[in-house]
Amino acid sequence: MPEGGAAALPELLAAGLPPGTVHTGVRVTEASVSRVTTAEHGVFRCRSVVLATGARTAARLLPGLRTPAFHPVTVLHHTAPVAPTGDPVLLLESDPDGPVAHTAVMSAVDPGRVPAGRTLITSTVLGTPPDDTERRVRKHLATLYGTSTDEWELLALRHTPDAVPAMPPPHDGHRSVRLLAGLYVCGDHRATSTPGAPSPRATARPAPS
Ligand SMILES: Cc1cc2nc3c(=O)[nH]c(=O)nc-3n(C[C@H](O)[C@H](O)[C@H](O)COP(=O)(O)OP(=O)(O)OC[C@H]3O[C@@H](n4cnc5c(N)ncnc54)[C@H](O)[C@@H]3O)c2cc1C
Repeated sequence: MPEGGAAALPELLAAGLPPGTVHTGVRVTEASVSRVTTAEHGVFRCRSVVLATGARTAARLLPGLRTPAFHPVTVLHHTAPVAPTGDPVLLLESDPDGPVAHTAVMSAVDPGRVPAGRTLITSTVLGTPPDDTERRVRKHLATLYGTSTDEWELLALRHTPDAVPAMPPPHDGHRSVRLLAGLYVCGDHRATSTPGAPSPRATARPAPS
């Protein structure tokens, strides 16, 4: 979890490039080895293309590309009068019925994310969440942190149905990023479904999809 949030890493990478190299907020509508068409900024000619969108957009731009199934993820953000722990640790639940899979006091992990004196606890539910998600998560968090959560306040609950590509066995963790000379596709749908997992080395062997 980078300090400043997940965007901190790409921002650091972009900062090392010559000014004007990266354009954001540009929606690509067509892509090929030699040209990229955008919705609002015309056509860019090029010698090669790296397509790094999610799986569905990649398959729309390059028809025939495999689209995996997805797993849903629900993330809940609470604030508490007192942090249940001052340690910047990730608590993992071994019981698959959870419903919480993992939780962390984000204000301890990265104090810059919260106003001074506030606490932020972020918890993740994997898969389809139960009907009464917030009540069950709050009860589970009381057990995990060993403290009452009655005074905790829910700040946000975000459900993402297509959060992470499924990796049912046999999973090919070495799917090539190189489709053709000059045409590359990369992202969590090509290797492992999260940058938090060890990612297999990208290979240069050609692969059709
Ligand atoms: C709720 C949630 C929680 C997660 N938590 C964790 C976690 O704690 N740890 C962890 O390691 N992973 C986590 N993940 C997984 C992680 O976010 C993804 O694996 C990772 O972001 C995938 O990176 P990517 O570069 O493949 O794709 P993305 O990060 O999805 O990047 C794709 C980019 O393509 C852009 N794009 C899409 N269409 C177009 C278009 N037509 N034109 C131009 N640009 C386009 C998008 O705007 C986006 O910036 C989580 C995912 C979710 C949804």
